[in-house]
Amino acid sequence: MVTMGDFRDTLYTIDKTGRRKWVYPHYAPGRYFRTRTVVAYLLLAIYLSLPWITISGTQGILLDIPHRRFIFFGAEFWATDTIFLFLVLAGLGMSLFFFTSVFGRIWCGWACPETVFLEFLFRPIERLIEGSDSARRKLDRAPWTFEKIRKKFLKHGFCAAASWVIASTALAYFIGREPLLEMMSDYPWRNPGPFFMTLVLMGVMAFQFGWFREQFCTILCPYARFQSVLMDEQSLLVGYDKERGEPRGKVRARETTPTGDCVDCGLCVRVCPTGIDIRNGTQLECIACTACIDACDSIMDGLGRPRGLIRYDSESGLAGEKRSTLRPRVFVYGAILGVLAAVFIYKINHRSPIEIEIMRASTSRFVVETESGHVINQFSLRLANRSSSARHFEAKIKGESAAEIVTPLKHLELHPGENLKVPLFIKAPQSLFIEGKAEVEAEILDSTGFAFSRSLSLFGPEN
Ligand code: SF4
Ligand code: SF4
Repeated sequence: MVTMGDFRDTLYTIDKTGRRKWVYPHYAPGRYFRTRTVVAYLLLAIYLSLPWITISGTQGILLDIPHRRFIFFGAEFWATDTIFLFLVLAGLGMSLFFFTSVFGRIWCGWACPETVFLEFLFRPIERLIEGSDSARRKLDRAPWTFEKIRKKFLKHGFCAAASWVIASTALAYFIGREPLLEMMSDYPWRNPGPFFMTLVLMGVMAFQFGWFREQFCTILCPYARFQSVLMDEQSLLVGYDKERGEPRGKVRARETTPTGDCVDCGLCVRVCPTGIDIRNGTQLECIACTACIDACDSIMDGLGRPRGLIRYDSESGLAGEKRSTLRPRVFVYGAILGVLAAVFIYKINHRSPIEIEIMRASTSRFVVETESGHVINQFSLRLANRSSSARHFEAKIKGESAAEIVTPLKHLELHPGENLKVPLFIKAPQSLFIEGKAEVEAEILDSTGFAFSRSLSLFGPEN
C-alpha cells in the first residue's frame, strides 16, 4: 500500500539513496497517442520547413540579431519595434495563463519541444534499435559485448544525425538559409562560429534526450513549478477516478470480494514517461501526456468495462461534481488576451509604410579631416519601404546649418518591400561644437511628401 509519504517525499525517479532510477516507459499506443503523433509531426514539419519557405520574398522566420532585424511571415520588425515585442511577450505570457487555467498542462503533453523531440523522434529511434522497454532494460544491464556496442553506436549515430538536422535548422532561423547553405558547402574551420554553435546544440540535445530526459520536466522546468498556481479545481488534467477504481484488486479477487474497476495491472505506471503512478492523485511530475489514459482504456476494453477510469477531467469532475469551463479567471485572462491581440492587429495595420532607423556606427566616435578641419561623425541609416510603390528618398540636415550629410547614395530609391542600409556621414565645421558636442536634426524626405526627422548628437574635439 502506497502512503502519501512514500510518493511525496522523493521524486519517483530518485531512489532512497538519491540515485537516479532510469525510466523505461512501455510503448502502448492508443487513440490519444495516435492524435498526438499527428500533432507532433505537424509541429516538427512546421519547425523544419519555416526557414525554407519564402513569404513575400523573404524567409518565413528570420531572427537576424546582429542586424536587429526580425522577419515573421513576411512582416519585418526592427529593434525599434519594441511595442510589438512587448505585445508578443505579454500575449505569450497571458496565453500561458489562459490555456493552463482551462486546459491544464496541455502544452507539456502535446506541444513542448521536450515532449515532441523525445517522444516522437528520439524514443522511436531507440525502440527501433534497442527494442521494447524490457529489452532495453536488459541491454543496459548486460555486459559490454559486440552486440551491445553495435546497438548503442547505431542508436547514438541516428540520434546525432537527427540532432544535426534540428541544430542546423535552428541556425537557419538566426543566420538565414542562404548563408547557412554556403557555410555547409565550405570547410568547417572557415566558419568556426556557426560550426561551434551546431556542435554545442548537438551536445545539449545529446545530454537532454540521451540522458537527462524526464528530469528536465521534474527538476528544471519552471512551468511545472508554477502551473499549480494557474490551475484550479476546474482545470483540465489527466486524473484517475478513485470513486470508480477503488478498492483496486486483481480480476480474480473480484469473484470473492467486491472491488472497484482498477484491476491493479500496473500498466498505467509502466507507460508513464516520468515514472509516476497517477492513481496517487495529481502530481507535479505529470506532464499530461495521456499515455496512462490509452493504457487504462486498453485494459478496460479487454475487460468489457467502460473507458475513462483514467481520463481527461478536472478535480471537480473526478469528484463527481459538475465541471465548469467558464470561471471568472478564464474571463479575465481571456479578456486581457483579447485586448492584447486587438492592439497587436491595430498596430500592425497602422504601421508606417516607411520605416527609418538612424543609429550611431559602432566605430570610432568622430574623425577630424586633416585638410579642412571638419569633424565627421558616422551613423548608419536603415530604410524599409513597406508601401506598395517605389519611393525616392533624400537625406539632409534640417534648416540652416553648417553641417551637411554625406552618404554614398545621396538619392535613395527603394522598391516595394525593399530594405536598405547605408552609412551616413555628418560633416560639420569645428566651430559648431561646444565642449566637444553639437546637435543637428537629420531629415529624410521622399517624393510623396513623407518627412522624417531625428535629432542627432555629434561628437567633436573639446577645443
Ligand atoms: S491501467 Fe487502469 S486498471 Fe491497470 S492499474 Fe492502471 S488504473 Fe488500474
Ligand atoms: S501520469 Fe499519465 S499523463 Fe501523467 S505523465 Fe504519467 S503517463 Fe503521462
